[in-house]
Amino acid sequence: MIGSRNPSAPHPCTAHRCTACCHDTTLGLLDEDIRRLLDLGHDRFWVAGEPGAIRLRTTGGRCVFLGPAGCTVYYDRPDGCLLYPAVYFVEEDEVGFDTFCPWSAEFAITPGLSLRVLRGIWLEDRQILLRRALGRRHGGPVGGR
Ligand code: SF4
Ligand code: SF4
Repeated sequence: MIGSRNPSAPHPCTAHRCTACCHDTTLGLLDEDIRRLLDLGHDRFWVAGEPGAIRLRTTGGRCVFLGPAGCTVYYDRPDGCLLYPAVYFVEEDEVGFDTFCPWSAEFAITPGLSLRVLRGIWLEDRQILLRRALGRRHGGPVGGR
């Protein structure tokens, strides 16, 4: 998990009871996210994105996992949710915090965070390409099951 700038303070998401990034999300899912959530018995939590991409499903603009008290899969949430608001800025070629998050200034870079963000991007890109290739080979749809 990303650290708070003040380690003795509650995590910014819980401190502010914020769920801003759980609305209108198009977060890409890694195969490991899908496997973990399927193993826990969840289903139909994804939608097909652009060819090869699999994204978190929303209903009425809310992530399907968002409950009245917050994320219902908090400890098993997708990697991208766990890392957000840390994102990779292409032009700057660096990892930083997305200012869409109203509390982005309260997050701190922790050891390994940049590597984890870059790993997620690398994995997602490759999994998208692989799903496209498999979809073409089998003549089936790509980006979903
Ligand atoms: S990461 Fe930011 S936008 Fe998302 S829930 Fe936490 S504080 Fe809110
Ligand atoms: S999985 Fe949880 S943390 Fe991620 S967008 Fe959905 S409700 Fe928010």
